[in-house]
Amino acid sequence: MEIHGDQSALYRCRNCQVPIAFRDELLSKNYMAKTGQAFLFSNVRNIVIGQKEERTLITGVYTIAGLFCSNCGEELGWKYLQASEARQKFKEGKFILERSKIAKGY
Ligand SMILES: [Zn+2]
Repeated sequence: MEIHGDQSALYRCRNCQVPIAFRDELLSKNYMAKTGQAFLFSNVRNIVIGQKEERTLITGVYTIAGLFCSNCGEELGWKYLQASEARQKFKEGKFILERSKIAKGY
């Protein structure tokens, strides 16, 4: 893999180091999860998507599904499937990774 500065930086599962998302796919760091800060990503890989569930978050009711590392099974965050609030619709199809569950690397 070629290295081009920070563009090739990626986030790995903290537990097993498998690559999960590229720096380019990071949309926002302004999210919160139970464990603290969480990041919003446009795309992830090496992930297994869990069962759909409804969850009430600070900004409204969402249909989400848990994200699990495909290598070690650790729960890393969730995917927004559906948002009830019109102004939250931009989150649909995007991915939350909890900061405490991922590590930045190359
Ligand atoms: Zn893992």
